[in-house]
Amino acid sequence: MTQSYQPTASHFINGRYVEDSAGEVIEVVYPHTGAVIATLHAATPAIIDAALDSARAAQAGWAALSGSERGRVLRKAADIMRDRNRALSEIETHDTGKPLSETLVADAASGADALEYFGGLAGTLTGEHIPIAGGDFVYTRREALGVCVGIGAWNYPIQIASWKAAPALACGNAMVFKPSEMTPLSALELAEILIEAGAPAGLFNVVQGYGAVGGALVTDPRVNKVSLTGSVPTGRKVYAAAAEGMRHVTMELGGKSPIVVFEDAHLENAVSAAINGNFYSTGQICSNGTRVFVQDAIYDAFVARVAERMDGAVIGDPMDEATTVGPMVSARQREIVAGYIAAGRAEGARLVKGGAVLDGDGFYIEPALFADVTDGMSIAREEIFGPVMSVLRFTDEAEAIARANATEFGLAAGVFTNDLTRGHRVAAAFEAGTCYINAYNLTPVEAPFGGVKASGVGRENSKAAIEHYSQIKTVYVGMNDTEAAF
Ligand code: NDP
Repeated sequence: MTQSYQPTASHFINGRYVEDSAGEVIEVVYPHTGAVIATLHAATPAIIDAALDSARAAQAGWAALSGSERGRVLRKAADIMRDRNRALSEIETHDTGKPLSETLVADAASGADALEYFGGLAGTLTGEHIPIAGGDFVYTRREALGVCVGIGAWNYPIQIASWKAAPALACGNAMVFKPSEMTPLSALELAEILIEAGAPAGLFNVVQGYGAVGGALVTDPRVNKVSLTGSVPTGRKVYAAAAEGMRHVTMELGGKSPIVVFEDAHLENAVSAAINGNFYSTGQICSNGTRVFVQDAIYDAFVARVAERMDGAVIGDPMDEATTVGPMVSARQREIVAGYIAAGRAEGARLVKGGAVLDGDGFYIEPALFADVTDGMSIAREEIFGPVMSVLRFTDEAEAIARANATEFGLAAGVFTNDLTRGHRVAAAFEAGTCYINAYNLTPVEAPFGGVKASGVGRENSKAAIEHYSQIKTVYVGMNDTEAAF
């Protein structure tokens, strides 16, 4: 029998769990079995109202603390999160289907890194002093924005919630967070942890719901900033809605990122990066390198080696720590991926390995490797968000760069080469926000993360995130008599 993961109630507002069973039902499904592991309710207008009011009420007092005081709470939350890593990982595995071998190291652990990092940074946030001719001067104050709304995707639920909450709270803001309705559980755990760590009630609230709840949040006059992690179509809608009220935004959206492998590259490392960058989290990662461009001379060897290494994949029960490939998050997502695999074959790509939908109750599909992919095929143009690697052939550097950049997306890009100058030249030429040389998909909290073009605006993580969760007030101080014309 599948264990229940029923939380105390659906929402977390003003420091406690709250229910309103009038809200639409949300069934939380374990992707390994298809069993319902929790039943929640979407937020009603009364719930949304209570969450925004409590955030507003908590924010002013929180912003009035010193940065170090705020930071202490965040760092304590990081410690609690690390202490609970296994329990949080098990929740995340049941919510998303991602194997425990991943969630133990990549989800709450990454959330804790963000809380620790921004907790450390909080005490360093200051304005500047600007001398003006004649003795006047200006100083700037770095101030909070107010109430921030966070909206998350389903692939990294607690990581996304923490990557948004940590910089927001460090800067003195309050937050109302809406997880994806497919993965609503772990954000509630973060809310509990922050209270235990000493955050005031109302500072971080979680409301559940479908897109309509997100829509109501982003248009509410009490909201000053919206940070979304989601698809490009949703990003367009949310950005437009936020613009109406001149709200600040951070948009972390989808991608179709290239990995360019030159013939002088360390082949085994490039193969490893392509495997991680396509099959980790069963391919459900925004920055995945789903267009792998490989230079002529090593093309066949590269494809053969990826196929060989795929034999080592362990597909199955995500709670077994030996498993390396879990199910997709939902039956619907698996259907989308299977549709792309069929389209790839129909459009003439060569399916070298995998791609079969597996029998059983879970939402399993084998990782798929396509060779002989050309730029116009749908599997090379559209974000699939599943374990489908497309390998494309190229001849020279200029051609590879032009083709890598010929996309509306610009989230990430990678180059593998042992030519030092070429590595930097290609990285400089990529139209992408997050680039890699001889590495791929590593996202340490110290480094800015985000996209260009349709992949988003703003940056998460690093000192750069501070710019997106605070604003500068200019204070001009007159030290001289004021002159007037008459
Ligand atoms: P969606 O865009 O479908 O949803 C994202 C979130 O927005 C969900 O919580 C969703 O709620 C909510 N939402 C939907 N419509 C609206 C609306 N009109 N107003 C406000 N909120 C709304 O993305 P997925 O959850 O399917 O996640 C996959 C996508 O996320 C992929 O494109 C992926 O590339 C991207 N992503 C980007 C990352 C990045 O950092 N750049 C990281 C991870 C994923 P509901 O689900 O209830 O509809």
